[in-house]
Amino acid sequence: MTIKPKVIILGAGMSGIACALSLYKNFEVTVYEKSRGVGGRLCAKKLPEGIFHFGAQFCTAQTMPFKNFLKSSNALNFKGSIFDFETKSCIETKNYFVGSNGMHSLLKKHGKILDIRFNTKAIKVNEKKKQVSFESGEKVSYDIIISSLPLPQAREIFSTEIQHAAIFSPCLSVGMTIKGQYSSEYNAYKNINEDVAWIGSGGFYEINNKDNWVLQFSPMASHASMDDSDVLIQTNAENLVRNIIHGKYEIQHSGIFKWKYALCNRSDAKNKFTSISDDAFAVGDWNISPRVESAFISGNALGGYLLEQRL
Ligand SMILES: Cc1cc2nc3c(=O)[nH]c(=O)nc-3n(C[C@H](O)[C@H](O)[C@H](O)COP(=O)(O)OP(=O)(O)OC[C@H]3O[C@@H](n4cnc5c(N)ncnc54)[C@H](O)[C@@H]3O)c2cc1C
Repeated sequence: MTIKPKVIILGAGMSGIACALSLYKNFEVTVYEKSRGVGGRLCAKKLPEGIFHFGAQFCTAQTMPFKNFLKSSNALNFKGSIFDFETKSCIETKNYFVGSNGMHSLLKKHGKILDIRFNTKAIKVNEKKKQVSFESGEKVSYDIIISSLPLPQAREIFSTEIQHAAIFSPCLSVGMTIKGQYSSEYNAYKNINEDVAWIGSGGFYEINNKDNWVLQFSPMASHASMDDSDVLIQTNAENLVRNIIHGKYEIQHSGIFKWKYALCNRSDAKNKFTSISDDAFAVGDWNISPRVESAFISGNALGGYLLEQRL
């Protein structure tokens, strides 16, 4: 009987899960995730008022493997309209996808067939000893280690310098329920002003969710307000929304999400993943572009490479 190489994947977002799915039949794969569920930046909160997407609100699919993945995840296809303040024009969206129970639900079913340890934060990778240390004090050995963390977080735990030029910007996301009378011609608004990058309604993909809006501050405003109190962030968000959506309504706040590492730049690098050393690799959207599909492609590409190299 041949012994399968032991692979540790850090992070259960789209890239980590895509990588694990391509490897688990041929390698002994364990995923370690610091939070209590799958998703990472596909973060949807189910509140009494409905679903709020504090991370990616939906995604596009250009490649067949990702289209197939979305199909197998029972993703919902929808159309809608976005008003772009920069070009002062309406974008009619088509072939956009959302998880049927929130974006993180795209990964839930797949996560169930994998060995994932939740609430387990990696704090140090000792590449010489081939061992990862976790916050709990546990140390685990590996043959191959794969980080799927945003680049700055991966750099914090690896001793070898990770060679890549990706830069991340922060994002403050604020969830709001608008109750009362208002009319909104569009499902979402983008590039609103120097403070707001995006305001989108949940009605985009589900009519019952139309009063639930998420506002994303611009990178500059997010950076400036990251340490502000929740009350101040909510007041600012409320004033900004009132400039866009007119009517007689009340705003009920439904949470704030502070993403320190939200969006990366588009990469010029040729590779879809990064080699840290012979047995250490990094996947993630930042290897390609700030998109859910790019995260999938990155994880999948490393999976394919390792299968070819090691089997
Ligand atoms: C506000 C916002 C809006 C967005 N909008 C869109 C959009 O409309 N369309 C689109 O296509 N994309 C959008 N994106 C981008 C999209 O969400 C990402 O490209 C994609 O989810 C990245 O997946 P990933 O696997 O590369 O990283 P992540 O999802 O960040 O996964 C990394 C995982 O690692 C875990 N982790 C971190 N540190 C540790 C540690 N030390 N130990 C163990 N686990 C750890 C994290 O908890 C996380 O689960 C948006 C992102 C944000 C934040």
